[in-house]
Amino acid sequence: MTNKYKYFVANWKMFGNKKSINSINKVIKFCKLTNFRRAKIIYCPPYTILSDLFKKLKNTNIKVGAQNCHFIDGEGPYTGFISAKMLKQIGCKYVIIGHSEQRESGETDDQINKKIISAVNNNLTVIFCVGEKLKEKNKNLTNKVLNNQIRKGLNKVKKYSKIIIAYEPVWSIGTGKLLSNEELIKNIINLRLFLKKIKKNFNFKILYGGSVNGKNIKALNKIQNLDGFLIGGASQKSNKFIDIIKKTYI
Ligand code: PEP
Repeated sequence: MTNKYKYFVANWKMFGNKKSINSINKVIKFCKLTNFRRAKIIYCPPYTILSDLFKKLKNTNIKVGAQNCHFIDGEGPYTGFISAKMLKQIGCKYVIIGHSEQRESGETDDQINKKIISAVNNNLTVIFCVGEKLKEKNKNLTNKVLNNQIRKGLNKVKKYSKIIIAYEPVWSIGTGKLLSNEELIKNIINLRLFLKKIKKNFNFKILYGGSVNGKNIKALNKIQNLDGFLIGGASQKSNKFIDIIKKTYI
């Protein structure tokens, strides 16, 4: 149980359609009934249902974000892409950048950096994902990998208040595998130390992501110094998502 403000970012990945939007009714009802003002819920659905979700969540405290944006600021001949400016125009407040599933399909640190700058310039809050692969963890390279991703991703970024770091060990995403709390605490401490080097007097928000569910949330909530969770699979079913939020506060 906690009293802290916590983020619950729902990453729907390439799932969801107009029908699944109605399943969020349960979450809306739950938020009204319980009045957990400290739970900051952000839904990041595929682009195709962003507008429908805005309509659905209009009079609620639940926010909407996108799962990516292009690194070019504005418009241009980039077939199949969407810019931060376009997201801003439809009312997005958040965008996930640097997710490992994007990095896996070739997204570079340089592109991530440009995306972050473009998103911040368009007044979006960035959920900036960093995380080590299993082979990097096994070679004790976790800190080095995370620091590198952060240093490159935040190069020339000025408005740190627009950045939320999501620490997601790649090997933990969608696998049901988690670090021990001791390891997670250690990695978060190291991340915070490195972030202090980037901006001395700023307290970055840090989320954890990777197989968060109703079974492990109680243990994860014991970790101080975490500001919430980025949740994939378990956010796509409202009952499971509610269970996670409930167990954080009750
Ligand atoms: C994610 O997609 O960022 C994620 C953490 O997924 P899952 O919760 O399914 O591991």
